Amino acid sequence: MIKIKPTQITIDGPASSGKSSVGKRVASRLGYLFFDTGLVYRAATVAALGHDETLPQPSEIIERVRSMEFELRNSDHQNETRIFLNGEDCSDALHLPLIDANVSAVSALPEVRSLLTDHQRKIGQSGNVVLVGRDIGTVVLPEAELKIYLNASAEVRAERRQAENLSNGIQTDYESVLENIRKRDDQDSNRAVAPLIPADDAIIINTDTLDIDGVVAEILKRIDESI
Ligand code: C5P
Repeated sequence: MIKIKPTQITIDGPASSGKSSVGKRVASRLGYLFFDTGLVYRAATVAALGHDETLPQPSEIIERVRSMEFELRNSDHQNETRIFLNGEDCSDALHLPLIDANVSAVSALPEVRSLLTDHQRKIGQSGNVVLVGRDIGTVVLPEAELKIYLNASAEVRAERRQAENLSNGIQTDYESVLENIRKRDDQDSNRAVAPLIPADDAIIINTDTLDIDGVVAEILKRIDESI
């Protein structure tokens, strides 16, 4: 039987399970494009909030997301993606606590998902890609040849997120980070459309005791075995 290298790799999992760090490294080892779909939902949340601190009614959220113009620019540097919203680079705002607190409500709206999913699918279908998110293996690219689902306890994920925030100069306390992670897990897993759930054929990797290099090595081993 002839086996071929997977050209579409999906990595799903809950907040701070290591998807982006792992996905970036796997993509750069393979020379593939890396695309973090969470950034698009975060940009949609920036657009939905406008200049406010609270979200408007769902109909207004949908309208704002429908009329947003966003562009992804991948810099050569470590496959880093910058997101431009209505012509302005909003990348630095995407991980602020205000966005963390509202992104799951925005992304639970079916109309928002259908506005954004087609674009993600087109990128995925161009091949030689690593796409990361919540519903990539189940909804966006169910035909992908290699599907990974990363998991870790909420406590370990909150510690990682807290450290990441600090390194980005964002001050947060551990308890509120943990609370936000639990709340997003709950919202993302229980929404009616495209909930966070491993695809039936996903390889599930628990990252509680594995560092990024360990997870990357595990995924590359699976790819080697599949060729
Ligand atoms: O991965 P990240 O934590 O940046 O994702 C932010 C949020 O975007 C998630 O909590 C989820 O609500 C939403 N999301 C989604 N589907 C994706 C990627 C992200 O609903 N494919």
